[in-house]
Amino acid sequence: MSESKEYEDVWNQLIGNITEHISEEDFNIWFKSVTYQKSEDKKIILSAPSNFYISQIKKRFGKIIEEIAQDISGDQIAFDYIVLEEDTVTSEESTKEKSNTPKLKKIESKKSKAAPSKSFKEAKKDIYKIPENYTFDKFVIGENSNFAANAAMAIANDPGITYNPCLIYGGVGLGKTHLLASIGNYVLEHDSSKKIAFVTAENFTNEFIESIKNKKEGQFKNKYRSADILLIDDIHFLENKPQTQEELFHTFNALYESNKQLVFTCDRPVSELKELTDRLRSRFERGLNVDLQPPNYETRLAILSRKIENSHVDIGEDVLQFIAENVSSNVRDLEASLTKLLAYGQLLNKEITIDIARKQLKNTFSSTKETHIDINTIQRVVADYFSISPNDLRGKKRTKAIAHPRQIAMYIARNVTEYSTTEIGLEFGGRNHTTVMHGTQKIESKIQVDSTLDTVIQKLIRDIKNYR
Ligand code: ADP
Ligand code: MG
Repeated sequence: MSESKEYEDVWNQLIGNITEHISEEDFNIWFKSVTYQKSEDKKIILSAPSNFYISQIKKRFGKIIEEIAQDISGDQIAFDYIVLEEDTVTSEESTKEKSNTPKLKKIESKKSKAAPSKSFKEAKKDIYKIPENYTFDKFVIGENSNFAANAAMAIANDPGITYNPCLIYGGVGLGKTHLLASIGNYVLEHDSSKKIAFVTAENFTNEFIESIKNKKEGQFKNKYRSADILLIDDIHFLENKPQTQEELFHTFNALYESNKQLVFTCDRPVSELKELTDRLRSRFERGLNVDLQPPNYETRLAILSRKIENSHVDIGEDVLQFIAENVSSNVRDLEASLTKLLAYGQLLNKEITIDIARKQLKNTFSSTKETHIDINTIQRVVADYFSISPNDLRGKKRTKAIAHPRQIAMYIARNVTEYSTTEIGLEFGGRNHTTVMHGTQKIESKIQVDSTLDTVIQKLIRDIKNYR
């Protein structure tokens, strides 16, 4: 048995310094619940809470674990995993298992749990369909989405237990709906009896209003309060809708108290939502809040590569690089450019060369070019966001409530237009160019320590570009 002792040490050392190779977040999500079981010939057997964990760990960290183990021991050690049921095994069941192997968790057995009640079946017609093609395996994880995607996967694996509630926030087209739907699809795939309410905040609102009109509030309440998992997309839509907020507040409490999973998405941090009752805000802020950032170049390229995997069009790496270089704002625009080229290639049955790509995407790219943005628009959008007037930004006041938005507006003007600091200064009530420089630098350093601010600014920039 000395051999197994030896490898247990290897494992302990490995787990002790694995965060030098992977992020703390990954470690907390994936490795905290992995335990050493035993060693066999050149093999370490570990246990994990579910097959989902095992497949993820193998896929994402399999290689690095083997490498570290080899560094430590000098041996080429293989890793094997078993699912360890946390609950104690009943004696009847345990006799079915081989004597010394831990009980394997049967996802199948979950399926036999109580079939959906009739009332739910009826209600189900109204519960919005989860977009089928939004699944975890189609979501490309980059550093911009690592935390959010991992949290979503952990939730899907253990609804109501790991992170409850959870709020995913980020700008348009960054994958919020995709992740939210993936949670629903994953859970349903493994347990079709689960009642999942997947709804946009807009539909939730409309349905609620409709139920009042038709005196069917009871039915509405039942429907959402009987869900096992409530997934609400785009909760920023609830701003200025106190009655719906009130209803959601009670739905939230009812579900939360019975350990049902709640996940929301929002286009900005909840703290930035105006016109939201404090008690609902505090509910959203409870639990885990994670953000999605725009993907970097490598991730954009990876997303494009993944998207063409199943298409039969000839498209070169240089074309993908060209798109990834030119579309940096969000994944939706990235997809749109690719879709356009693929359609072109398919319709004309042509190989898509870099020249074709340049020509075909010229308009797409130029419409998102930033040179046409004027400072007035920036001021209007920023002022609106902070509930002040554009004149405040141009005026003399230097209170924090005004100076901070003013600096943000200057920062954005510096970053998305070609205007000089002198020109920008003039637009901000005739301020000196050094004031513009100072304001811009101040925001730059704030962003370094506050990623929330970065998210807000990214959102503002998108709104400015879409402003007409
Ligand atoms: P949001 O809800 O944040 O506005 P979506 O979830 O609708 O964004 O995403 C926009 C499009 O981009 C969708 O088609 C989605 O599948 C795709 N997408 C977003 N992020 C990723 C990603 N990381 N990997 C693959 N596709 C993505
Ligand atoms: Mg969305």
